Amino acid sequence: TRVYQTADGPVRALGGVSLDVTAGEFVAVRGPSGCGKSTLLTIVGGLGMPTSGHVVVGGEDLVAMGPAARARFRAERVGFVFQMFHLLPYLTVLENVVAAALPGTRASARQRGRELLERFQLSDRLRHRPAELSTGERQRVAIARALINRTRLILADEPTGNLDAESSEAVLQILAGFQRDGGTVLLVTHQEQAAAYAGRPVLLRDGLLQSNETGGPTAPAGTSTGPA
Ligand code: ADP
Ligand code: MG
Repeated sequence: TRVYQTADGPVRALGGVSLDVTAGEFVAVRGPSGCGKSTLLTIVGGLGMPTSGHVVVGGEDLVAMGPAARARFRAERVGFVFQMFHLLPYLTVLENVVAAALPGTRASARQRGRELLERFQLSDRLRHRPAELSTGERQRVAIARALINRTRLILADEPTGNLDAESSEAVLQILAGFQRDGGTVLLVTHQEQAAAYAGRPVLLRDGLLQSNETGGPTAPAGTSTGPA
């Protein structure tokens, strides 16, 4: 449950959502604007806290953690991808990716960053600034950044919401490849096209789960990426 306190009173963003995601699943959370999708994702990723309830990710209880442990959890365990990319405009493409590397791994991160960017067809863009890229390219940089620490979990909040059909497809193929290599994907979207990549649809409405069919990992065809 997540209730936001606002000047106009409490807003119940999540009204008691119970969701189990198995490692290796690709789950698409859909629902109308304002139904609580982003709130759910930030809570799973340790960016936000529930008002009540439990959140366990990879065996770690996020509610029981202190803020420092939660920050470490986010850095080490979660790859976030956002609709608006959130790249740093004054850094180059490669610098954006490497900047997310854990302390002490910066040297090897440059090499891994290059490899990821090459895999995402960006090897000739390493020194470009985000403003010099197409939106699809920017999102691929953001995914490389999300993967720099070899996370096993990607949380993607409408990652194709600002992309044309072709760029969306490329992003979804990357997420599918990540899953095929053993990663877990929690994708928030309101696009049918995007949800089609998921093994399991989850529908939220007014902060409540509408459907939560159980299902195992599925692997649509596509390019290979992954946590390995
Ligand atoms: P979605 O991502 O599905 O559009 P959100 O999780 O962003 O939904 O929001 C769910 C509800 O919570 C909405 O009614 C929204 O207005 C409200 N909300 C989201 N964030 C905040 C906040 N920081 N403060 C107050 N209300 C919020
Ligand atoms: Mg949202």
